[in-house]
Amino acid sequence: MGLLEETKERACREVDRLAGELTEMARNIHANPELGFGEYRASAWLTDFLEKNAFEVERGSADLRTAFRATLAGATTGPTVCFPLEYDASPEIDHCCGHNLIGPAHAGAAAALQKLSSAWPGRLLLLGTPNGEEGGGGLKIMLALGEFRDADVAIRFHPSSYTGANTRPMANRALGELFRANLTTLGLDDDPSPPFINRPIGGAMDRLTWVVPTAAPFVAICARSVGRDDTPRFTAAADTSLAYERMVVAAKALAMTALDVLMQPDALEKVKLEFQTNRWLRYRQIIAA
Ligand SMILES: [Zn+2]
Repeated sequence: MGLLEETKERACREVDRLAGELTEMARNIHANPELGFGEYRASAWLTDFLEKNAFEVERGSADLRTAFRATLAGATTGPTVCFPLEYDASPEIDHCCGHNLIGPAHAGAAAALQKLSSAWPGRLLLLGTPNGEEGGGGLKIMLALGEFRDADVAIRFHPSSYTGANTRPMANRALGELFRANLTTLGLDDDPSPPFINRPIGGAMDRLTWVVPTAAPFVAICARSVGRDDTPRFTAAADTSLAYERMVVAAKALAMTALDVLMQPDALEKVKLEFQTNRWLRYRQIIAA
């Protein structure tokens, strides 16, 4: 087995060790829904967890009280992998979008990678972006203020009732393919015929794809029959043992994909080449926005 594969296996074992703690955090966030820009408890739980796992944490980034920035350096200099994450709920239907799973999945992947930080070069950057539900306001503000400036790639998983590693049109396909391959290794395949395409989130993720090569995969956290998110059925589905199991699978795939980028210069080069080649597609959208 090569060094990369071995490191991925170690990362997965670390995620398994953290699974109980991540599940507890996700349950707490689900049970205490907080609206966008008011996610005080969720951001405190996530930042405390990251600090405990040796991340350097700055709370209140971009002058937003519930935003944060957490960084950790690897063994030597190298690329920066960014995980943007959200943890807010919607008015009345609470965690109808499963954001209770997003924060702990990314924080868990990051904490697992911290345990083997002598094995990879580069840096991890976690950006807590408030208010994902109502148009991705926190992400838009943090983008405008340059919080993503240092990121070489961004990877964010979102819960859904189907799995689609590469279904977002403006996402970086090369990066999405890395995530897809890791998910397959973990026993979860893409849904060959997605029952619907997830609603756009007010263009915030599209805006991120304009600035940095971004993968924005969907991972099924419930039966396909649950249907779209943004419904009370999805709120219930985001608090089941299956949802928490899939959150752990997503955390593993996130950690593995970060290692692909950090440890394989060829893979990052391919991602960057695609980004450079498609620049006029993005520039046209920027001009039109
Ligand atoms: Zn969402």
